[in-house]
Amino acid sequence: SRKRLVIGNWKMHGDTAFNTELLTALRTGIGSAPQCEVAVCVPFPYLYQTRSLLEGSGVTWGGQDVSQHEKGAYTGEVAAAMLADFGCRWALVGHSERRSYHGESDTVVAAKAAAALAAGITPVVCVGETLQEQEAGHTHAVIDRQLAPVLALGADSVAKLVIAYEPVWAIGTGRTATPEQAQEVHALIRQRLREAGAPQVRVLYGGSVKAANAASLFAMPDIDGALVGGAALMASEFLSIAAA
Ligand code: 13P
Repeated sequence: SRKRLVIGNWKMHGDTAFNTELLTALRTGIGSAPQCEVAVCVPFPYLYQTRSLLEGSGVTWGGQDVSQHEKGAYTGEVAAAMLADFGCRWALVGHSERRSYHGESDTVVAAKAAAALAAGITPVVCVGETLQEQEAGHTHAVIDRQLAPVLALGADSVAKLVIAYEPVWAIGTGRTATPEQAQEVHALIRQRLREAGAPQVRVLYGGSVKAANAASLFAMPDIDGALVGGAALMASEFLSIAAA
C-alpha cells in the first residue's frame, strides 16, 4: 500500500527568524515516528538552515525546482547534485507557477524529473489544468499531455516519482476541488501509471488544502497525500493536515 505523503511548498515565503520558528515547531510536532511522511520544500537559500534544523527528525526537505542540466554555464540555476549535497530528498518540478511564469514546457519538466532522479532525488511532478481548460472540458487531455514525456522516461524511472495534481484554479484561491472532482482526475493519473508499469506511485492533491478539508480528500482511494501551499506556513495547520 502507498504511504501517505504531505509536502509543504513554502513558495517564496520565509526568512531565517520565521523559518526557525516554523521548522522547530514541525520538528517537535511531528516527532520521530510520524504515521505519514512529511516534508517541506523551501526556497534555495534556506536549504542549509532547513537541514540544520530538521536533520534527524521525522521531517524531510527539498527544493521547489531543479535544473534539467547536470552542471555548467547556467546562471541562476540549481543542479540536482547541489540539492542532494544539502540532504534534499525531494524536488518539485513543473509547478504551475514555473510553467506559467517561466515558460516551462512539458518536455523541460520531464528533463528536470530525469535530472533529479539521476542525483537520487525524488521529483514531485506537478500537473493540472487551468480554469479555462477545465471549463472547456479539456482536463483529461491536458493531464495526458503533461504526463506523456514524464511517462516516457520508462517504468523504472516512473516508479520512483511522485505526482501532484494541482488544478490551477484551486491554487491559492480558497477554491478546493471537491474530493470527488479530485478523485476523478487522480483515477485517470492512476490508470496512466498502471499502463506505464508503475501503479504504486503516489499521487498527491494540491490546491487550497487545509486542516478542514484534508481528511475528506485523503478518504478518496487514489489521493495519497497533499501538496500544501499557504497552510504549510502555519505549523498548527500543517501538522493538522499531516495528522488528518
Ligand atoms: P495553496 O495550498 O496555497 O492553494 O497552494 C497550492 C500549491 O500550489 C502547492 O504547491
